[in-house]
Amino acid sequence: MDSSSSLLRMEHIPGKGRGLVAAQSLKAGQIVLTESPLILYSASPLFAPSSSPFTYCDHCFGIVSSYPNIFPCPSCSNHSFCSQKCLSLALNSSHSTWVCKALISLLQHPNSTLLQQHPPERQVQARFIVASHNLFLQAPSEFHTLLSLHGTPDSDILDVANFLHSLISPLFPPQSQFSVDLTAQLLAKDRLNSFCLMDPYSPDGPQRSIKAYAIYPKATFFNHDCLPNACRFDYVDTSDEHNTEIVIRLIEDVPDGKEICISYFRMGRDYCTRKKILMEDYGFTCECDRCMIEANWKENEGEKNNDLPHMLFLCKHVCERKNCAGTMAPLPPKDDVPSNVLECNFCGNLKKNDWDVA
Ligand SMILES: [Zn+2]
Ligand SMILES: [Zn+2]
Ligand SMILES: [Zn+2]
Ligand SMILES: [Zn+2]
Repeated sequence: MDSSSSLLRMEHIPGKGRGLVAAQSLKAGQIVLTESPLILYSASPLFAPSSSPFTYCDHCFGIVSSYPNIFPCPSCSNHSFCSQKCLSLALNSSHSTWVCKALISLLQHPNSTLLQQHPPERQVQARFIVASHNLFLQAPSEFHTLLSLHGTPDSDILDVANFLHSLISPLFPPQSQFSVDLTAQLLAKDRLNSFCLMDPYSPDGPQRSIKAYAIYPKATFFNHDCLPNACRFDYVDTSDEHNTEIVIRLIEDVPDGKEICISYFRMGRDYCTRKKILMEDYGFTCECDRCMIEANWKENEGEKNNDLPHMLFLCKHVCERKNCAGTMAPLPPKDDVPSNVLECNFCGNLKKNDWDVA
């Protein structure tokens, strides 16, 4: 485990299952976890060209600038990379010879029209199954970590698994014994554990859309809270290295033993929307302090309750920039001195913290 492991402890949280709690007293702005993805795959359907205005590297998902800084896969015309380094890394990992061949076969498969008749989401799930099979071939222990995560198939997933397995299993190398059941297990893990990587912020741009999905083996254990005390950052588009690590940073001080939670989506959403997303996508009803209060509100009552502590929290921590609504967390403390600058986890906006006047 990484160096941050002394900061976090896995515990059973009543009513929630496993969760991560502070293993010591922690400070606002502190980074409690930095972690590479187990698996990272494109959110664009196999057949449809992406609707995104950006072109992404198929390995790190950083933006690819135009020719001559584009490095296509030598064997297929469908995948390109941002640098010689990403191309070389990809050919030995995420875009191995097997992945390249499997994706070409799916596109040219006599039954490929079948895949196109399903919702585009199915094509993205096909990418995930290919990526997880590649993990199985290349890094069996990481594949087993993926399988150990939370999530069990329901009847919808079993249907999808049957369909995708019939298309993909003929492409598996002879030594692999990938069953329908395993495919269903994997799809269930993906549904509950994947994080979205978003198109970069643009003030006038289209609605934020998802460019890739990633599963982080430890970050996935952070439970949800509608008033979280931590949030995620990533630096895929801002660092020269196109870093794909997730960084979890504290929004406020967290005492020893208290659970650390993130919000699974933008915090500004209203109670009914949150309730719907959490039930449909994650299968639970949130009983956080904010939900307990807002569950009893009548229509529009929120507007009359602007002085509640949790409304003040939202004013302070939801980015006000146009088309953003990201989460503002303090910069990491320097030499144990807390920062009074808040940074947005989506647009990168920095603002002085005028709220906590000493
Ligand atoms: Zn790249
Ligand atoms: Zn290729
Ligand atoms: Zn809640
Ligand atoms: Zn922002």
